[in-house]
Amino acid sequence: MNRRANPMAVKAALTYEIGEAAAALGKSPATIRNWIKDGLPVMASRKPYLISGAAIRDYLRAKYQATKSPLAPNELFCLSCRAGRKPLDMSVEAFANTPKTTRLMGICACCGACASRMISNTQTHVFSETFQIKTGGGSNA
Ligand SMILES: [Zn+2]
Repeated sequence: MNRRANPMAVKAALTYEIGEAAAALGKSPATIRNWIKDGLPVMASRKPYLISGAAIRDYLRAKYQATKSPLAPNELFCLSCRAGRKPLDMSVEAFANTPKTTRLMGICACCGACASRMISNTQTHVFSETFQIKTGGGSNA
């Protein structure tokens, strides 16, 4: 996974050429061009392209928000690691959350902290093939 660029590495009030933006963010110019293809707004009336720092910040924040913690099917989200982690022994407890959702909780195999994941009840059978689900919580928890 690519290292994330820091949106604060560019100044909101400045404009950047592609090469300048790449240098400021520690990315290659090709990456910046990909971002433009992907929707990063440029000041199109001018060449070379100029990109406002504010636009870069908005773009990166939206991009990273969208890709925040995509969990693999065999992972829970660990609040301590702030990442998807496999639960210890692939063992989780299921707690009824809402009539339609269940919270799976386990121990992060990486750091030992509590990790959890919300699933739709319609997915329970899928996750029960991956995890050893104990229904310790029950609905009266
Ligand atoms: Zn962890």
